[in-house]
Amino acid sequence: MIEQVGALPLPLEPRTQQPKVVLVVPAHNEQEVLPLAFAEISEVMASLGVEWSVIFVNDGSRDGTLAVLEDLFQRDEHVSYLSLSRNFGHQSALAAGLDHARGDVVITMDADLQHPPAVIPTLLDAWRQGYDVVHTRKLDTADAGRMRRLVFNLGYRAIGATSNVEFIAHASDFRLLDARAQQAVRELPERGRLYRGLARWVGFRQAVVPFRAAPRAAGS
Ligand code: UDP
Ligand code: MG
Repeated sequence: MIEQVGALPLPLEPRTQQPKVVLVVPAHNEQEVLPLAFAEISEVMASLGVEWSVIFVNDGSRDGTLAVLEDLFQRDEHVSYLSLSRNFGHQSALAAGLDHARGDVVITMDADLQHPPAVIPTLLDAWRQGYDVVHTRKLDTADAGRMRRLVFNLGYRAIGATSNVEFIAHASDFRLLDARAQQAVRELPERGRLYRGLARWVGFRQAVVPFRAAPRAAGS
């Protein structure tokens, strides 16, 4: 399901070319889940028949994440990775990955399979329809209690009431950006970034795809 977000600043122009897709995946202490995640990502990407690659960002992991990434890099030509000098946090890891991604389309997603790779084809369908920014919205998380969802709802209401930046409630950082929107996000001068807010703020033609989040596949 693809839902338009806000009014379109331009009409949708369908895209017919096969895109070069770059996935950006931050990883902090994800040694257990990374091989599973990469296997699932590869399967989905291979089925799409597009040129693709993945940039993992090792965000100062203290476990064997770096060794696992080096192993994936040695074994598979689709893999590259960045390794940050310490743990900077999820948002900074995403920013580093977005700075290095060179493709027609960049997709950010978590390493723990809570962002199901099976949703990627729908994100690309939205891009083919002409959307430049395709957000996702979590329907519910199998491991998130009702209390947590309630707290999130209150949080989104508070942000909505106090900020000029519009947020999509229950959005996560599982998102597709067309190269032009990626460039716009990269050029923003903000340092302490909240990527989901900026990605909504930059404009262009935006849509959202709902998905059901799985529990973490491994790790914590
Ligand atoms: N992550 C990161 N740096 C951090 C914490 C997390 O790069 O300091 C990564 C993590 O490996 C995962 C994503 O950010 O790919 C989301 O983290 P997590 O699953 O812990 O968060 P949640 O699912 O609770 O949003
Ligand atoms: Mg997670």
